Amino acid sequence: HAKKSGKNKIQFFEPRLHEQVMERNLLTLELRRASARLNEFQVYFQPKVDGNEFKIIGVEALVRWFHPELGMISPGKFVPIAESTGVITTIGDWVFEESCRITRNLQRQGLISEDWKLAVNVSLRQLKEGHFIRNLSRVLKETGFKPENLEIEITESMFMEDTKYAVHILQEIHNLGVTIAVDDFGTGYSSLNYLSRLPIDVLKIDRSFVMDIGKDSCEDTIVRAIISLAHSLDLKVVAEGVEKKEHIEFLKRNQCDAFQGYYFSKPLNLVDLTELLTLKYPFEKRGVPAL
Ligand code: C2E
Ligand code: MG
Ligand code: MG
Ligand code: MG
Repeated sequence: HAKKSGKNKIQFFEPRLHEQVMERNLLTLELRRASARLNEFQVYFQPKVDGNEFKIIGVEALVRWFHPELGMISPGKFVPIAESTGVITTIGDWVFEESCRITRNLQRQGLISEDWKLAVNVSLRQLKEGHFIRNLSRVLKETGFKPENLEIEITESMFMEDTKYAVHILQEIHNLGVTIAVDDFGTGYSSLNYLSRLPIDVLKIDRSFVMDIGKDSCEDTIVRAIISLAHSLDLKVVAEGVEKKEHIEFLKRNQCDAFQGYYFSKPLNLVDLTELLTLKYPFEKRGVPAL
């Protein structure tokens, strides 16, 4: 409690800030408890479609936390805390194994093709923990998952913090046959020279740029520039946060390779994903005007 007076003045705690600290402390404790058993977490999957026919070419695994009292807590809230406290490695290992197991089963059921990609988000902390490659190799072996079917999504901040290490570990992962995507591209304030030094295969245009497409803003120019930068470096480009027809028209016209967003589908649990995959043409017949 903040004292009203005296030497130990700690009343610079704004009530709002105090609440935030309390929430963070609570979530830190609860995360530690939940990550010991992992039974409150689930993996959701958001489809990615190709830019021509809107065929599903893969999914991104997105973790969800269903807290018994607090309800669903979004990863935007708990992943940063899990990163700073280190439990992200436990949760991340689990997400990785669970999503490989699930999509491998879908493949065995004939619901997804042999060249499908599973994309998993990985944070710097996970890569630094040391056992990442060992765990990766074990999961691939135990689930019968082909490295070519796996993509890891990393953010630019990784390269800023520890470039030498990033080059080393990403090279090792890439050597296994796993592809590497840069997530939230364009938001990281990092220099672009890493693009030529790292084994990167895909750029994902951040949702904040896609959101403003067609509003006569400079975002159109930025999106076009990212696509042509990617292509001139021989990289594929995925747009995230695609919500509107206008986004798709613009992105198609500018040769964006793949789309992901609510226009097609929100992240789905296994039941809903299975149902979607059972449809003959989940998205192909969508009424997007031909260009
Ligand atoms: P991200 O990797 O950039 O994932 C995309 C986020 O955008 C997801 O939020 C997704 O649900 C949301 N999204 C997709 N399409 C649309 C759209 O059309 N409109 C809008 N408004 N949102 C859209 P989500 O699932 O809440 O995840 C937030 C972030 O949490 C992820 O951003 C990722 O950085 C992190 N995250 C999620 N799962 C994991 C995980 O298993 N491990 C790690 N390390 N991070 C994760
Ligand atoms: Mg991602
Ligand atoms: Mg992203
Ligand atoms: Mg994002």
